Amino acid sequence: MLISIVAPCYNEEDVLGRFHEAVQKVAEELLPLGHDVQFVYVDDGSRDRTLVVLKELADLDARVRYVSFSRNFGKEAALLAGLRLATGDCVVVMDADLQHPPELIKRMVELRGQGYDQVIAKRTRTGEGIARTLTARLYYRTVNRLVDVELVDGVGDFRLLSRRVVDAVLDLTEYNRFSKGLFAWVGFPSTTFAYTNAVRAHGRSSWTLRGLLNYGLDGLLSFNNRPLRAALYLGMGLLLCAGVYTAWIVGAALVNGVDTPGYVTIITVVTALAGVQMIMLGVIGEYTGRIYYEVKGRPHFLVKATNVERTKDLIP
Ligand code: UDP
Ligand code: MG
Repeated sequence: MLISIVAPCYNEEDVLGRFHEAVQKVAEELLPLGHDVQFVYVDDGSRDRTLVVLKELADLDARVRYVSFSRNFGKEAALLAGLRLATGDCVVVMDADLQHPPELIKRMVELRGQGYDQVIAKRTRTGEGIARTLTARLYYRTVNRLVDVELVDGVGDFRLLSRRVVDAVLDLTEYNRFSKGLFAWVGFPSTTFAYTNAVRAHGRSSWTLRGLLNYGLDGLLSFNNRPLRAALYLGMGLLLCAGVYTAWIVGAALVNGVDTPGYVTIITVVTALAGVQMIMLGVIGEYTGRIYYEVKGRPHFLVKATNVERTKDLIP
């Protein structure tokens, strides 16, 4: 069996060498079991020497395939390129920053042997701030109530995929990609095992708060139109409240005579409703924006350098 290890790399010059050593070691251990390994590295427009390091690695090790983007297109685009470049019978997707322990690959391959199409590593949140852990937990609880495919906390992109899963994911050509959700959407027999999260070895996480928020919104909006439906229900609920309240005021006026004060009520209702309307407009805008990007049909990434012969594979 040929196993492709796909790793997106963004400004990872410090760890890349060590990462490659670590996966090479795993490859050696897999060899006696009859498995060959191929390394697929995607340089996502890094500003440091990541590409230079990749070229060196490829010179020393013929099993390395790399591609480098013309600019930073984001991890999702890098993952897509990696999956397109991988030719293995199964593909292991993992981060290059050594937060995904390479030793676990053997475990994954073993579980693949038991017939699972997706072997998913679920991490604990060791070494992370309590705030982030709590927000993550809250987020997943909310999202799962809203979204059709189940997203699990701690389950990320670190997983082994069989060829048919990879092909299925590659057939999904949408522009806004949310891999976690795509993998879940594809389905096939899957199994999950837990591991302890390693603290980042070098550099820092490239996630900003804004990035995380946007990623969270993507998760909510990429898979269904339930937020739109929620808007509909909210509108109906508000209408009902307004009806009841109007009846109440009219009734009170009939019984007690006219009573005009109500400045606070009016201001509250006007601003609250304006807020609700803006949010709903925003929800519609989000979907329209997504449609806009899909319609333009631009490529997910542009390639600057690669050691793979036919770049047509990369950009169909
Ligand atoms: N990454 C990427 N493009 C980006 C940001 C990140 O290819 O724009 C890669 C990065 O090199 C790493 C992986 O995605 O291999 C995960 O990134 P990071 O460690 O910053 O995220 P975290 O582990 O905090 O989720
Ligand atoms: Mg990381």
